[in-house]
Amino acid sequence: MVAQVLDGTLVASKLDAETAERCSHLTARRVQPGLAAVLVGDNPASRTYVASKARACARLGLRSEVIALPSATTTAELVALVATLNARADMHGILVQMPLPAQIDAQAVIQAIDPAKDVDGFHPVNVGRLALKQDGFVPCTPAGVMALLDYYDLPARGRRAVVLGRSAIVGLPLSLLLLHRDATVTVCHSRTADLAAAARSADILIAAIGRTALVTEDFVRPGATVIDVGINRVTTREEVAAYFGDDPARLADIEKKGYTLIGDVHPRQAAARAGQVTPVPGGVGPLTIAMLMRNTTLAAERACRQ
Ligand code: NDP
Repeated sequence: MVAQVLDGTLVASKLDAETAERCSHLTARRVQPGLAAVLVGDNPASRTYVASKARACARLGLRSEVIALPSATTTAELVALVATLNARADMHGILVQMPLPAQIDAQAVIQAIDPAKDVDGFHPVNVGRLALKQDGFVPCTPAGVMALLDYYDLPARGRRAVVLGRSAIVGLPLSLLLLHRDATVTVCHSRTADLAAAARSADILIAAIGRTALVTEDFVRPGATVIDVGINRVTTREEVAAYFGDDPARLADIEKKGYTLIGDVHPRQAAARAGQVTPVPGGVGPLTIAMLMRNTTLAAERACRQ
């Protein structure tokens, strides 16, 4: 069996087209959706993420403002900045890029964001709304995974879903979303005994643990849908050979950038057993940004209705 590849880039482009249209309606009413992205310190990955979010805003017609602060910023300074962004009518969404430097109390910062502008869906009010199946903001990566399942008509109802990872950003909210869609959900984590056996019970297996290719063939029930949220790097030709064979694009990545991206799922082993798989890159990643754009546009629409 060779698994069908679920194309996140394709689904993201469809979501983006809808968002751009909603955005142009708002802009015609003189309300251009605006996203404030706050970047603290000089983490290169964070800088890349924020830049790609700002580019997505420009592409779809949203306004964005990137506010870069030094690594030594304090919790009080960041909370004060968030308060000014809460008060700005032209900024409908506020994103504070994680992780924050160790001296900053990330929870205090998240809780300072107005829940109506919390387009990442991390504020406890939005977490509570999600748990209770009420309208709020759903975190972007889990929302993206659900959009992918919807697009490919892979219903969760009545199926066994196993989520590897229980973080507040991915695993936990995704488990709730799947539960709300009537899946029977198992949530696994670093203390789960016999992870492979738990994973093998899944019709829908989600890997969100941040461990390179930990999900091997013995984790995958034949025909299962395997969604790989993980983003990890491999840097050597030997690793490329082990995970991707002699794929010239991967070898070119190593030559050019010094690394190639890989998820939490062993790509070749999963593809040989699963019914559907997501690629890394080009799977869940583009959907995360598409959902951020959608949430920001939704925040602007809600602000208009008030
Ligand atoms: P966290 O580190 O916050 O959480 C990891 C989770 O995986 C924890 O629940 C942890 O368990 C569990 N875990 C770690 N190691 C193991 C193991 N060996 N066996 C079983 N469970 C394990 O990560 P995130 O949720 O933020 O991210 C997960 C992955 O997804 C990362 O690779 C990240 O880069 C990627 N990501 C991708 C996004 C995208 O857009 N595609 C967006 C966000 C994240 P415990 O709770 O017990 O510690």
